[in-house]
Amino acid sequence: MQFIDTHTHLYLEDFDTDRNEMIKRAVARGINRFLLPNIDQSSVDPMLGLCKAYPDYCFPMLGLHPTSVKDDWQMQLDHFEKLLQESPTTFVAIGEIGLDFYWDKSFSTQQIKALRIQFDWAKKLQLPVAIHTRDAFPEMLAEIKEAQDGNLKGVLHCFTGSLEEAQKAIDLGFYLGIGGVLTYKKSDLPEIVKQVPPERLILETDAPFLPPVPYRGKRNESAFLFETAVKLAATLEMDLDTLAEITTKNAIELFNLPQS
Ligand SMILES: [Zn+2]
Repeated sequence: MQFIDTHTHLYLEDFDTDRNEMIKRAVARGINRFLLPNIDQSSVDPMLGLCKAYPDYCFPMLGLHPTSVKDDWQMQLDHFEKLLQESPTTFVAIGEIGLDFYWDKSFSTQQIKALRIQFDWAKKLQLPVAIHTRDAFPEMLAEIKEAQDGNLKGVLHCFTGSLEEAQKAIDLGFYLGIGGVLTYKKSDLPEIVKQVPPERLILETDAPFLPPVPYRGKRNESAFLFETAVKLAATLEMDLDTLAEITTKNAIELFNLPQS
């Protein structure tokens, strides 16, 4: 049985003291591929360093996170565009990109501009996008709809929208990233995942953030994908082997990964 953690920030300093052991713990539970979303210019080197150390396990994305869209956003995008031109096959996705109106709304116009530019890269390079959305679902769905010309594909990472939003995203060709939130008592997500095709679900941790039950309040790590997978299998009344097979296949297809 194997799983792919499709969204995990294993290069962050939260893991500096035990990164190798942490990766081993995940691999021991069958979680043996890690897709690393970038945050901003400062995270690129640590991320690529980790991918160099674990070439069969770690796969990088490139993009500017919406909460990092500040005054220098254009400079950061220029830098990323150059990196993409220099090594177009290094990255498995443009991510993570998106809209976040929860933390700070003062750069919302710039966030939208940055998103559109990065959507264009993804379409041109035929890469999927990993999307972060917080307090901005209607705006995000409108942006995807506008950009969708048959060439845009991707995932709404850590999906926490409504059933209607899930269905709209799926109709627009997107996948839903299911993380630890699925295990939270008050979450609507279990009711939502039952009503969407399993072929559109992929698993993620968003480590070190959003740990599943029973690790809430602790640092999240990729090994904890297992708890989310068990919960998803139970919710869908599916055995864990089948769930592993389906979600792994979905991730391989979306991110164009090697078969194993
Ligand atoms: Zn993330």
